[in-house]
Amino acid sequence: MKFRPYDQAQTKFVNLDYRKILGEDSDAVMINDIIEAMDISSIESRYGEVGNLAYDPKEMMKILVYGYYKGYFGGRPLHRNYHEDLGLRYLSNDDFPDFRTINVFRVKFKDEIADAFAKVVMLCRELGMIGFKNLSIDGQKLKANANVFQNKNLKSIRKEKEKIEKLLKKLLNNEIEFKSEEDEKKKKKKLQRRKNRLEHATQLLMDAGAENDDKLRYNLTDPEAKIMQDKRGVKNPDYNAQNAVDDKFQVLTGVNVIDTQSDSGQLFPMKEESEKNAGSPHEHTLADCGYPDKIMFTQMEEDPTTEYYVPDKTMHSSRDDKYNKWNFKYNEEQDVYFCPQGTKLIFVRTSKDKDGFRYRQYQAEDCGNCPVSDKCRRKSKNKNKKIVNRTISVYPQDGAVARMREKLDSKDGKKIYQVRMSTVEPLHGDMQKNRGFIQFVMRGLEKVNIEYNLLGIAHNIRKIILHRADALKKLLGTAQFTA
Ligand code: SF4
Repeated sequence: MKFRPYDQAQTKFVNLDYRKILGEDSDAVMINDIIEAMDISSIESRYGEVGNLAYDPKEMMKILVYGYYKGYFGGRPLHRNYHEDLGLRYLSNDDFPDFRTINVFRVKFKDEIADAFAKVVMLCRELGMIGFKNLSIDGQKLKANANVFQNKNLKSIRKEKEKIEKLLKKLLNNEIEFKSEEDEKKKKKKLQRRKNRLEHATQLLMDAGAENDDKLRYNLTDPEAKIMQDKRGVKNPDYNAQNAVDDKFQVLTGVNVIDTQSDSGQLFPMKEESEKNAGSPHEHTLADCGYPDKIMFTQMEEDPTTEYYVPDKTMHSSRDDKYNKWNFKYNEEQDVYFCPQGTKLIFVRTSKDKDGFRYRQYQAEDCGNCPVSDKCRRKSKNKNKKIVNRTISVYPQDGAVARMREKLDSKDGKKIYQVRMSTVEPLHGDMQKNRGFIQFVMRGLEKVNIEYNLLGIAHNIRKIILHRADALKKLLGTAQFTA
């Protein structure tokens, strides 16, 4: 005999111990033990005594977290992989819920899932994984579960509605033949549903003033998703997922998904979210120039809990532009500015910009014979228009902006700000490239936030397994663990 016996038809009578087969260091066992130690009584208390016996909420949580950990984002993919994934068999104890049961649980316990994210952040803290030195805040655009071609303006929605109404009329007059009555009913129902959706969209667009604005659009697949432009310039119906990340092990200390392209206004809420989840503020808070508006620079200076490192929008471009207002010299005694050509700019008026911020305007005394006038002054479209001397707008907050620039340009400031790049960019890459989360599965702002919380839990657990597996086992063995 040359080979070992190999008969696949031979059945076996075995005692299955999935935990033993998987091993104590396996992802499924670690996830199991973390959720097992977690207090989820708030979920348990929402189940009543009557009706069919429900799946244990701990089992449901374990399955969902494991799904987002492995890349099975939702009930159907989890169900598809159940038979072949030993981890899922262990976590479900071979009593796997229906895909609808999983999806309903995910939506029903959205607050508890957000709470579980905060508990895992606290667990990371207990394991010494949060350094509280540098907190980086950044957003990533993630595709919504929405068809880009379903993004329509009022005109095209009305056109489609007319087409559907004509079809419905034909159906009523029996002008279209169907194979069966069942088919006819189905078609009618489908058209009516689409018509209702179009009517709803028409109303919303009209309320938003779409009669006078052709650019206003509504996505018929996910109305809450917005057309956003990613880093490569590609436009899609997206959501903007905000992250607060600690730099020690890239633990996520705060997440929130918003439906606006701009990150503006998210700096303080994200910093506070991180503080709430992790229990303490960070020494430094870093964000890119998309976050602050003018007033925030003063607020950042007044916040005693952290030191901010956040550039303004023109910090980098104004460095190379000699004629940018930031390169004009101020004389405090005379309250005048001097341009690079030595021309004096004197105070002319105070005014308000489109965002309501007050500013002081200074104007050059005479730019008529300036040899660099083309580089400095904005070109007028009207060639016959009289030359207007250069003006600059000076905001009360400019002092705080200048101090921030100085801080970021210092040796220490540069070193600290560089941390931002190496903290948040790998996180985005890991989520999208390695874990395959390039698109939300659910629709609507509230639901995509549930998904992102689950993704955040999975991300942080991965970090625990990578860096603190032994410490976790020790902690889970002690009575003090309170996650
Ligand atoms: S255009 Fe006016 S403000 Fe600008 S550099 Fe020339 S003189 Fe100075």
